[in-house]
Amino acid sequence: MNNIKNFHMSPDEFRKQGKQMIDWIADYYENIEKYPVLSQVQPGDVKAQLPANPPTQSESMEQIMHDVNSIIMPGITHWQSPSFFAYFPSNSSGPSILGDLLSSGLGVQGMLWATSPACTELETLVLDWLAEMLQLPEKFRSTSVGGAVIQDTASSAALTAVLAARERKTNYQTNDTGNLGNLVAYVSGHTHSSVEKAIKIAGIGKNNLRLIGVDQNLAMRSDLLENAIQEDLQVGLIPFFVCASVGTTSTNAMDPITEIGQISKKYQLWMHIDAAMSGTAAICPEFRYLLNGVELADSFSFNPHKWMFTNFDCNCFFVADRSVLIKTLSILPEYLKNQATESGAVFDYRDWHIQLGRRFRSLKLWFVIRHYGVEGLQHHIRTHIKLAQQFAEWIRFSKDFELVAPAPLNLVCFAHKTGNEFNKKLLETINSRGKMYFTHTIINGRYILRMCIGQTHTQEKHVRLAWETIQETANELISNK
Ligand code: PLP
Repeated sequence: MNNIKNFHMSPDEFRKQGKQMIDWIADYYENIEKYPVLSQVQPGDVKAQLPANPPTQSESMEQIMHDVNSIIMPGITHWQSPSFFAYFPSNSSGPSILGDLLSSGLGVQGMLWATSPACTELETLVLDWLAEMLQLPEKFRSTSVGGAVIQDTASSAALTAVLAARERKTNYQTNDTGNLGNLVAYVSGHTHSSVEKAIKIAGIGKNNLRLIGVDQNLAMRSDLLENAIQEDLQVGLIPFFVCASVGTTSTNAMDPITEIGQISKKYQLWMHIDAAMSGTAAICPEFRYLLNGVELADSFSFNPHKWMFTNFDCNCFFVADRSVLIKTLSILPEYLKNQATESGAVFDYRDWHIQLGRRFRSLKLWFVIRHYGVEGLQHHIRTHIKLAQQFAEWIRFSKDFELVAPAPLNLVCFAHKTGNEFNKKLLETINSRGKMYFTHTIINGRYILRMCIGQTHTQEKHVRLAWETIQETANELISNK
């Protein structure tokens, strides 16, 4: 027996390598500002430097980490850089990384309560904490008729919501018979594309997704929503789902969720609220108004992996009536049957989302909430919003730049007055220099720069430097014309 070769990493080696890895990550965070924020490699560069075939012989961690440093790192875009202002953030934190590491270490697969009771029960608890932090109505709590589940992303949450809405509307028939082809869903032209994807995957058909017009603030117009529903009803179609956004991706527009909720009740639509990034702001009482109307929603989702210091992936999906969700998604093959499930006394989260297996994601969320405390989270969210508002103020008083959409929280949409080509060039030039990273959007044919402040370590000095760089680069481009 003793002669049997074993390729596994021994606990001692793991201990040694693990400590080095933690040091590596700590060094990375300490030095992150030395890297170009946007990776500067060309397509194919990373792959070309790595062997096309897998190694036959075991390699050492030293060799592997050597390649990480020399080949992988240049191909990293540094989402955790304090000068990452692109997209929406995907921020992280020490406690979150440690919670995630512990989850990897435990290697739990929590598909059933029985496959690790703590995985299920901690998740239920932490999500109830979040419901309290966001002041969600009682119905979204596990102690009531609803509840919540951690999913990978807001996209999966949207798909889950669409499926549950479809089944509720068709009396749970579509699961058996396939799609009827006459269900209709509603979003605004600014709703995240994940809802369109969900509509396609759920077999509703893109042609049955109505893009409702928006007002001057790019928020869905509820009068147009109601008109569209009525038109569809008149021709015998079946309206069943509407998604309202608390913070659209392009400009952080806020759909009028109370009005949309009232319409959804009147016509018996499922209202899903997508608050992917901006939902986090509602943990500060002064921003809780953003969720006014959530009591009318059937489901609500937000991503702690965007703006709550919890590393990707972590979406929290709340549902007002868990029985609809479970009825929609429940599958119980023989091999999953067990006493706890049969007793009805436990949640089996496999019935609350698409996939069967699931990671112990609540650990990182629990670590984050306990480490920061609600006060700590509020402090950092407020700081980000304050910095963004300061930036917006600079734009407002600039003679060359202008704000192009309201900036209710931490996203500022702005443009140089010179025009589209210039703004595109400005963005590309700044990003190519690697000191900071912005992305753009197009609104009513206008090319617009977006500055989103939500990275864990962003401070005023980073925002000041960004504003100086934007102005200097614009002046440089003008003088080089
Ligand atoms: N909803 C909104 C408003 C978003 O901004 C995004 C991504 O930025 C998503 C949904 C999709 O997020 P995820 O990557 O979690 O699917």
